[in-house]
Parts: sequence; C-alpha cells; structure tokens
Amino acid sequence: MPASPIITSVFDLFKVGPGPSSSHTIGPMKAAFDFRERVARLPADVQQPADGIHVHLYGSLSATGKGHGTDRAVVAGLLGWQPETTDPVALLALLRDPAVTYPVPVGSQTLFVGPQHIHFERKRYASPYANTMVLRLTTGEQVCYEEEYYSIGGGFIIRKGEPETNPDTVAVPYPYASMTELKAQLAQHSLTLDTLMMTNEMAITGRTRAEVNTRIDQLLEFMHKAVRRGLRQTGVLPGTIKLSRKAPILFKQAKGMSHTSDSFLLFLNAYCLAASEENAAGGIVVTAPTSGASGVIPGLTYLAKQHFHYDRATLRAGLLAAAAVGFLVKHNASISGAEMGCMGEIGTASAMGAAFLTRCAQPTGNINAIEAAAEIGIEHHLGMTCDPIGGYVQIPCIERNAMGAIKAYNAFLLATSGAASFQKISLDAVIKVMKATGRDMSTKYKETSEAGLALSATEC
Ligand code: SF4
Repeated sequence: MPASPIITSVFDLFKVGPGPSSSHTIGPMKAAFDFRERVARLPADVQQPADGIHVHLYGSLSATGKGHGTDRAVVAGLLGWQPETTDPVALLALLRDPAVTYPVPVGSQTLFVGPQHIHFERKRYASPYANTMVLRLTTGEQVCYEEEYYSIGGGFIIRKGEPETNPDTVAVPYPYASMTELKAQLAQHSLTLDTLMMTNEMAITGRTRAEVNTRIDQLLEFMHKAVRRGLRQTGVLPGTIKLSRKAPILFKQAKGMSHTSDSFLLFLNAYCLAASEENAAGGIVVTAPTSGASGVIPGLTYLAKQHFHYDRATLRAGLLAAAAVGFLVKHNASISGAEMGCMGEIGTASAMGAAFLTRCAQPTGNINAIEAAAEIGIEHHLGMTCDPIGGYVQIPCIERNAMGAIKAYNAFLLATSGAASFQKISLDAVIKVMKATGRDMSTKYKETSEAGLALSATEC
C-alpha cells in the first residue's frame, strides 16, 4: 500500500461534465484548458513567433478518441470551456464542419485550431500512463513550448513532472490509504464513516459542513436530472452504430408491471440505462467514478430516493460511503478503463453502489458490512474487459451500467444478510488483485477497441 494518505475530494471523484467519457472527454478538456492558461502566461518572446497549436493523442485516446469525442473536447478546452459549464449541444457542434477553425488567443495574436491540428497518433509513445496527450505551440516545424498530460481516468489529469497529489499541501484529520487504515481510524477515534468522511472533506476543500452537504445535494440533483432526461428521450444515439435508446421503453414497461415481482428490476434497469444513454449522447452527467460508469450510482440513488424514500441525510451519507470506496480503488489500483479494463470503471461503480446501499440501509453504517458489500462488488467484476464497439461508449457500456447496478444490489444483500463476519476476502486484498489483473490484461482489452466485442460485431 502506498504510504501517502488519500486527499482526493468527493467533488473531484464526482465531477459534473459532458459525456461520453471522463478519460477521453473531461480529462482532455481540462488538459487543453490548462495548456491554454499556461500559454497565456508565457513571455512574449515565446508567444510571438508561434504560428500553430498541435495536439498529439496517444494510447487509447488515439485508438477510441474519435468515438469518444476527444478531438471536440480538446478544442473546447483550448477555447476556454470547462466541463461543468459546457453546453453539450455546442460541444457536439464543434468540428462538425471540417473546414471551420477555432480562435485561440496566444499573447497579442490569435491562432486557429481545426481538425488538422489534432493528431491521433498510431505509434507507441514512451509514457507511464496509457492515455497520454502532448500539446505543442509551434513555429513551422519547431516546438516553442510543450506540455505532456496523462488522463488517468474519472476526468483526473496529471501534468508531466507534477505529482498526482501532493500530500504536503493538505493535512487531513484522519489520514488513511487503505480500508485497514480507515477502519483503524474509525476504531481509534470512535467515529462513524460519515463523520470521518465529512471531517476530511471539510479539511481538503476548506468548505463548511453545510457547504459540503449543499454540494452533495447538487451532485445528486445532477445525477437525477440525467436519469429524468434519459427517461424522456427517444430516438437513436449519435455515432455509426445507430443504437436506439431503450430507457423510456423499459420505464413504461416497469410502470405497467408495478404489481409484479419483476418491476423493481425493470425500474432499476430503466434508471441506469437512462443516465448511460444520456452519457452516450454527450449530455451532462456526473462521473461516478467515470462517465462510462455514470449510470450505476445515479440509477441506484434515484431508486433509493423514489422507491425506498430515503431522506436527504441518508442519501448524503450513502454517497460519502460510495466515495470512500472509489477513493480506495483510485488510490491503490485505478478507475481507468485504459489501465484496468471495465473492472476499473463498472467494477468500481458497482462496489461504490453496494457501499451506498449498505450505508443507506443501516442507520449507523456498519463498516464491516460496507467493506463486505464493496469487496463482493469488485470480486465479481475481476477481469472484465473494456472493448467498446466502434470506440463509442454504447455497447457494451450502457447495459453494463444496469448490470453493474444489479450486481451492486445483490452485493448489498449478500453483505447484509447477517454473514458479513464470514467474509474471507478483504477490500484491500481484492483491490490488490484488481491492480495485478489490470497489469496482466492485454492492452487489446483496455479501451482500445482492438479485441473482444469491438471485433466480433461490425458497425452498422
Ligand atoms: S466497456 Fe466499460 S470501461 Fe470500457 S468504455 Fe465501456 S463502460 Fe467504460
């Protein structure tokens, strides 16, 4: 286990932004925005001679970046757009006409960026991360200024030369880097998980308790808006697959069968599909922990609110428990499909969902049951590949969100059925296995669309 404590904010894990992919859309947009800001601060003698901006995409950003809209996200970032405030309709319109270029201020001049400046590189690039982008300010063939970024999943980025997080910048009251350490903190200080998570979050963000609660409520509302929008929308999703939206049909069916035993699953399927279809359409979603997996927790939280009628405080506590699990996976393995395959995205979301349900169902939040639920959630996604057809976050992604939520529900049932103490595998152990499995997995199965379903089905 790394010794450095977790200092990620809940609001960095759950980020609002446009779909379809946090690593391929939100991360690149943030990197391009950062590059724009840095270029604006360069001395005039570096800015002045520049006559071009070029963006080079490597790894799965290159392999599936077209289907994920990475080129549009990069242009948006260079235009100064930020994920949370981006208009998804305007984002989808970028680069629609290949003849149009977009103005980027560089000192006293304006450079123009178009499709010819975004390079989907096929050659391998020596980099510590699968998703690498290099942004350059150029004069003719010469590079005047360059930055290298890594999109590490969930919309998180690292700039070359900078640590992912700097533990010296934040001191959390209850440091932990693993579930073992988290449980030790809870026992030593006689805390509930809710209190520990809230206290650390206040230290990390400098927000008050009321401000953290308000922001959590807003996140839940963003999630539920995506569900509600998706339940209303019909038609075909963007891209060459021509996949029809299914959520409204399932929702109608569920309402018609509300007295049968299947209706509960149909409702959950409909909610998860609704948010995932919105993500696939480039709508505003919440990374949970990624955009590709942004249907699992919104589906479960919507179910918890609408069907189980949990109050606001319970939903908040559940989301904090989900965040704790997401942090542990991100810190000790990865939440990126390009690093872990789909077990890193849907597997993590399912474990987070299981922790959410378990916390909501137990007024005091039994940490052993939460751990058991999360462990079961990950254990039964180990080895799951990422092979999206055509590079679109649609097949298998959309249905996979529904399946991840249903597994989360069952993990919660298994963990709370009175036998949590019989649990043999710890959450730390399964996260370690996840990391090792991700390392052993061929890159063909890590968001490159070079194998699996991506090859067995041709684009329509
Ligand atoms: S298969 Fe899984 S990891 Fe890959 S893009 Fe789809 S949801 Fe993300």
